Amino acid sequence: MAFGKPGIEVDSAFTRPDPRGLSFENTFGGATSFLRRSYTKALRGVDLAVTGVPFDQATSHRPGTRLGPRALREASSLQPCYPPYGWGFDPLTEFDIVDYGDLAFDFARIQDFPEALRAHIATILGAGAGTLVLGGDHYITLPILRAYAAKFGPLSVIQFDAHSDLWPDDDPARIDHGTMMYKAVREGLVAPETSVQVGIRTECADYLGLSVIDAFEVHDIGPKAVAAKLREIVGRTPCYLSFDIDALDPAFAPGTGTPVWNGLTPNQVAVILRQLSGINMKGGDVVEVSPGYDPTGVTAIMGAHVGMELICLYCRGLQEKGGA
Ligand code: MN
Ligand code: MN
Repeated sequence: MAFGKPGIEVDSAFTRPDPRGLSFENTFGGATSFLRRSYTKALRGVDLAVTGVPFDQATSHRPGTRLGPRALREASSLQPCYPPYGWGFDPLTEFDIVDYGDLAFDFARIQDFPEALRAHIATILGAGAGTLVLGGDHYITLPILRAYAAKFGPLSVIQFDAHSDLWPDDDPARIDHGTMMYKAVREGLVAPETSVQVGIRTECADYLGLSVIDAFEVHDIGPKAVAAKLREIVGRTPCYLSFDIDALDPAFAPGTGTPVWNGLTPNQVAVILRQLSGINMKGGDVVEVSPGYDPTGVTAIMGAHVGMELICLYCRGLQEKGGA
């Protein structure tokens, strides 16, 4: 491969002639779309739209995830010169994956944010594409699930997280990243009996019927057994995969607002995600990356790799439907 051929490959986010294909531009320069995909608002024929939601005003502790999408895009520029290792196919070449850019919203009208995000996701889903959302704090998953449930009905949710985000909150005006799953379940957006939270290591009084594989259990039974349990719980139901980066241990992902020790390792996450191949995934997100607390940038690198794995899971599902 040849990197950075002058006049041939630079700024592929807006110069690539075909949305499909790997990217060999210099990893340290150029416009940083996610995985060097084309920046576009045109959704015709798109299989999967990546979109950023730089929102952190529902954060209970340390803010900063508004800078997550930008950091994830930059970190992702290390990856698209290869097909993802070990999957046996190349989603970047076999599918139309684009960077739809970020959600437009007025940061000073927080009350308008949930509907703006729901409509943004509904637009993408209405065009027949799936979404991979780059957060942003975890509140964003609630408006996303509203759009998804309107199209698919109540979804199975696979949530990787140190926290359940199930704190009781019956005030519809509150916008809180610690209560978004409570509201999602209460609103009927989630099918609790086929949903599961992985990596939990903070207290929760009531899981509202969701299954839980806490961090101690992951360490105890190992990632292959965890994946087997997940596949059994979720089956072939339509599912949404939400990955809070604090599921990883703070040793690997320090750049997040509410880190908790005894978290998952990158190996555990990689094995679990890889072994979920075959689930009926409709979309996903990577949230809570807060680059300001991480001078090394490793948190965004982790998040970008998780994003690639979610793309692989989604595209493997399309292959099984004969979409490739
Ligand atoms: Mn969370
Ligand atoms: Mn969390």
